[in-house]
Amino acid sequence: MVNLTIDNRKIEAEAGQFILDVARENGIVIPTLCSHESIEPTGSCRLCVVEARQGKKTRIVTSCLYPVAKGMIVDTRSERVMNVRRLVLQLLLARCPGSEQLKEMAAEMGVEAEPRFVPDTDNVKCILCRMCVRTCEKVVGVSAIGFSYRGPEKNVCTPFKEESETCIGCGACAYICPTGHIEMETTETGDTRTIWGRTFKMKICKVCGRYFAPEDQLVYISQKTGVPIEDLAVCISCR
Ligand code: SF4
Repeated sequence: MVNLTIDNRKIEAEAGQFILDVARENGIVIPTLCSHESIEPTGSCRLCVVEARQGKKTRIVTSCLYPVAKGMIVDTRSERVMNVRRLVLQLLLARCPGSEQLKEMAAEMGVEAEPRFVPDTDNVKCILCRMCVRTCEKVVGVSAIGFSYRGPEKNVCTPFKEESETCIGCGACAYICPTGHIEMETTETGDTRTIWGRTFKMKICKVCGRYFAPEDQLVYISQKTGVPIEDLAVCISCR
């Protein structure tokens, strides 16, 4: 165990834990867009920066990737930290001026709603955090999406922007996306779901009669786990 200070609070943490995790465990809120407990941190969004002092050295570090250390003094809201966060947010807004999530964060941090940098486009909401790509690969185990193009054109999509044969329509990428960039639509009756340009037929629960999961997803789970497909015909609430 190591003892450190975060925002003037004496805190005990396990050696090797990241600052962000320790802060969260102790109820200290650090803003993030690309952090989720189901996937490894990568520090993509850079909003979680904090000031960390060790001995005479003070550095701005990415808290989701920076481990705590004995005697470390962390400030999560110093003027220097807030200035870096505001700059990061302005850059993100320049790429995605249409993102409501970014606008809300900007309002909370006192960043001008009007971007300081010239927007590339007004309809892109992807901040290139890779949350969707990593979730599809590491959590779902499918790898149906990735990045294409470079520079301002860089964007997440299916291979060659065509209908993906590997996508199972689970929607995990859309759920985890912090800016609502990935569109997923379900019909009013719930019988189909469309994502990444492909429409998936939904399975109806044989107990409650509600549509609950894409048939392709259930087939995938059955093949992966060896559970007979007939045993997957009931939704989670009715199991
Ligand atoms: S909906 Fe398709 S692309 Fe998105 S996580 Fe599921 S399998 Fe991957």
